Amino acid sequence: MQLKSYWHETAPRFCGGAQGPVEGRFDVAVVGGGFTGLSAARTLAKAGVRVALLEARHVGHGGSGRNGGHLNNGLAHSYLSAKQHLGEARAKALYRAFDDAVDTIERIVAEEGIDCSFRRAGKLKLASKPAHFDSIAKNFEAVHREVDPDTALLSKADLRAEIGSDAFHGAMLSKKSAMMHMGRFVHGMADAVKRKGGVIYEDAPVTARETDGSGWRLTTPRGSLTAERVFLATNAYTAGPFGHFRRRVIPVGSFVLATRPLGADAIAATMPGNRTCVTSLNVGNYFRLSPDDRLIFGGRARFSAVSDATSDEKSGRILRDSLARIFPRLAEVEIDYCWGGLVGMTKDRFPRAGEADGLYYAMGYSGHGAQLSTHIGEIMGEAMAGKGNRNPMEGMSWEAVPGHFGKPWFLPLVGLYYRVLDRIR
Ligand SMILES: Cc1cc2nc3c(=O)[nH]c(=O)nc-3n(C[C@H](O)[C@H](O)[C@H](O)COP(=O)(O)OP(=O)(O)OC[C@H]3O[C@@H](n4cnc5c(N)ncnc54)[C@H](O)[C@@H]3O)c2cc1C
Repeated sequence: MQLKSYWHETAPRFCGGAQGPVEGRFDVAVVGGGFTGLSAARTLAKAGVRVALLEARHVGHGGSGRNGGHLNNGLAHSYLSAKQHLGEARAKALYRAFDDAVDTIERIVAEEGIDCSFRRAGKLKLASKPAHFDSIAKNFEAVHREVDPDTALLSKADLRAEIGSDAFHGAMLSKKSAMMHMGRFVHGMADAVKRKGGVIYEDAPVTARETDGSGWRLTTPRGSLTAERVFLATNAYTAGPFGHFRRRVIPVGSFVLATRPLGADAIAATMPGNRTCVTSLNVGNYFRLSPDDRLIFGGRARFSAVSDATSDEKSGRILRDSLARIFPRLAEVEIDYCWGGLVGMTKDRFPRAGEADGLYYAMGYSGHGAQLSTHIGEIMGEAMAGKGNRNPMEGMSWEAVPGHFGKPWFLPLVGLYYRVLDRIR
């Protein structure tokens, strides 16, 4: 088993990073080379704006190269809960932004000719308990009536055609949801930025920033550059001189396994519907098949703010038990890859984008950013290029998390709370 992301190991690497010192004057500097930053940089370069992207490690080093591979429409909250927290107009706008986000990815994949196995697979939100099916059904009625008629409610009996597991009590199907190979997409996006004239510096962590009132100087160990505007796209991985954002985004570990390629019989017996699947527990799981027929199986596993080889391996063992509970026939299946990454949670689990602390920013996708990050990156790119403001999060207030200064000491307590909740509800 390799302790590496399957997406990185099975994608051609981007080799177009700028060599030599970081230097020069740009209209916009983008910090962070995940989907948010790459999408913004692509939009800016396409509009003829001089843009440089600074990435601390390599493109896709963060969540964008480590996720579960789902492009699900729908927020981290149920639609009903979003309505309750945000009011009907904002909840609808955000729900639709997630729909649009999947369309945006489909369009970019076609425009840039990125070979990433994008497919409208549909998503199943699986009820892990009978009572969860009641809440899923209630939410489905509101979603179907008010925002997404491309949905269906499936009973436990209906599920037999979709998934070979007795662990679930029904599901909501969202037909707009999709899946793709995340590594091929992230490296394809970096190629597209370069083709359009954007400059990408890898191994260039921003360690300092200064302003003279009209623009910024960003410093990295490879040199420094100046830019009129800066777009921060660092989400859960935010490091360097960006304390304002570290106090608002909580990094939480999420972990993933990829099995060996399953044969046709095993697929027919476990994932005949070949959709993206998400369970309804708070400490739940998400899974799908890969383009080469592996089961990509993820989950929170542990409430840790660390993802390194030791932590990923520990979480991998917990995930393996969950996999065996859901699919007993895969209990002994070989695991080829095991990895983890950090999800950027906000206190209320709604994403944020806008301007603060002298910077433009988009982050806090709370584990649902693979599609939204690309879409919001594009929207913020348009805003910075002076092409109007379509930001669905515009004007949402965003307070710092009390007692949080970058290292979330309180995560084990949050984990305990959710585990108890999963036991009693
Ligand atoms: C294990 C896991 C599973 C997930 N599964 C899903 C899923 O199936 N579906 C879904 O919708 N979402 C999922 N997500 C969330 C999704 O991957 C993220 O929301 C999305 O990738 C965020 O993209 P981003 O570009 O904003 O941030 P990232 O991809 O995290 O990129 C941020 C980048 O900023 C860089 N950086 C940080 N500080 C600096 C600095 N000072 N200077 C320069 N660079 C810096 C980092 O190195 C990093 O590369 C998952 C996340 C994880 C970790």
